[in-house]
Amino acid sequence: MTPRPVLDGILDAVGDTHLVELGGLLPRFPSRVLAKLEGFNPGGSVKDRSALSMLLGRIRGGELIPGRSTVVESSSGNLAIGIAQICRYYGIDFICVVDPKTTRQNLKILRAYQVTVDMVTEPDPDTGAYLPARLARVRELVAALPGAYWPNQYANPLNPRAHTRTMREIAEALDGRVDYLFCATGTGGTLTGCADYIRDHGLSTTLVGVDALGSVLFGGPAGPRLLPGHGAAVRPALFDPARADEVVLVSDLDCVVGCRTLTQREAILAGGSSGAVTAALGRFADRIPAGSTCVLVFPDRGDRYLDTIYDDEWVRRHFGDVSHLWKEPEHTMAVGTC
Ligand code: PMP
Repeated sequence: MTPRPVLDGILDAVGDTHLVELGGLLPRFPSRVLAKLEGFNPGGSVKDRSALSMLLGRIRGGELIPGRSTVVESSSGNLAIGIAQICRYYGIDFICVVDPKTTRQNLKILRAYQVTVDMVTEPDPDTGAYLPARLARVRELVAALPGAYWPNQYANPLNPRAHTRTMREIAEALDGRVDYLFCATGTGGTLTGCADYIRDHGLSTTLVGVDALGSVLFGGPAGPRLLPGHGAAVRPALFDPARADEVVLVSDLDCVVGCRTLTQREAILAGGSSGAVTAALGRFADRIPAGSTCVLVFPDRGDRYLDTIYDDEWVRRHFGDVSHLWKEPEHTMAVGTC
């Protein structure tokens, strides 16, 4: 085996994540299933790629200057952590606008990277949602601070562009033979970038978009959602739902069952949206011809979900006693049935 090269710095560790066979997930499924483990990025998620794509050009081009510039973004999750890592590395100030729903663990991670956390306390008076209030605060900060830059992941084409590489890595590892790609959606960056690569390289991949019930991305009505990561309350201007060939909507319970099944059968402790794509595969499985190669993109790890998905009491409180759904060895896949 060739030794891994020495990297110039931590940011060079973004990308080239592992692609892993999931031979035990669906024992009787007559197709190959693999997972792209984006949790191996140094910030712990697929959003490291988007953060780097939106910031690196500006840093190298001298538009973002250590000590003079400030990055301002509204995110309480994986993108914030990706940006925090890059800003710390280059010594650029980062103000992250969050709201009271941000987990204590993520706030601690942001503070560890010396991010200035700006907490919006009141939701938007008209809608009761925090997102408009957060965006209003970002605009206020950007207007007030000279040298401030707002990456704006929802409208920045460099977000999806980062994921042409994600798909290239998958396609090259499999000699272009990817029949199905399951991709969770939030900003739609991962899905759009993968779709661009598939189109530009003439692959015959069927792209399955996986979204949350209660998300508006594919035209459904807005509704309550428990788990962060995938799903959106507002459709981003740049997102075209037609880029997905198929769409599967999954519930919070599907995500829990998907995650617990993954841990049980594959010893992979994955995040909520990885459970979502696993559940989507379960729901879609009978439409997949035997002998296909299916790739699931797993956006992050399970460590950030220990107080929710992997907490038995939390699961019981929200869904009742459902542990049989991932404990039955004979069950092909309980997900997609709940
Ligand atoms: N899963 C997780 C865990 C995420 O943090 C995100 C980004 N919010 C997504 C899925 C969706 O990714 P994208 O923004 O590229 O659509």
